[in-house]
Amino acid sequence: MQTVTSSPEATEALAAELALLLDAGDVVAISGELGAGKTTFVRGAARALGVIEPVSSPTFTIGHRYEADVPVAHLDLYRVDGLDPEEWGDLEPYFDGTIAFVEWPEHGGRWLPEARAVVTLEHVDESHRNVRIDSDLGL
Ligand code: ADP
Ligand code: MG
Repeated sequence: MQTVTSSPEATEALAAELALLLDAGDVVAISGELGAGKTTFVRGAARALGVIEPVSSPTFTIGHRYEADVPVAHLDLYRVDGLDPEEWGDLEPYFDGTIAFVEWPEHGGRWLPEARAVVTLEHVDESHRNVRIDSDLGL
């Protein structure tokens, strides 16, 4: 599906719709340039999955893990330049039994588990974002 959202709240609401279709073990890859709304999207999804803590970009750590009925992982691979087996070993636990959202999935190369949904965000203007979701989840 493809749509244009006109506010951060609208992007969060769309993410919440997707989130409710996900199961433990699912990975969502979220692409788009800086400021496109990737973290905003994750925030909306995490809220819908029962995460109460603030959801912010894990730019200075590689990931966050939030406890919820199904734990939610949020990774940001912006600073990653390809992974080696040892680095993948550090990341792997984030995917264990979670619903995992990955910003900058391109930087992880082939190590990342296959995504259940691929989200692509693009700036239209200050308040509008083009959002594409490719998945087999019926959204
Ligand atoms: P990224 O993680 O892609 O760098 P963020 O989600 O951190 O992006 O930031 C997106 C910024 O754009 C936020 O300041 C948000 O309020 C703003 N914004 C404006 N319109 C939208 C929209 N329609 N969807 C998502 N974010 C939007
Ligand atoms: Mg971000």
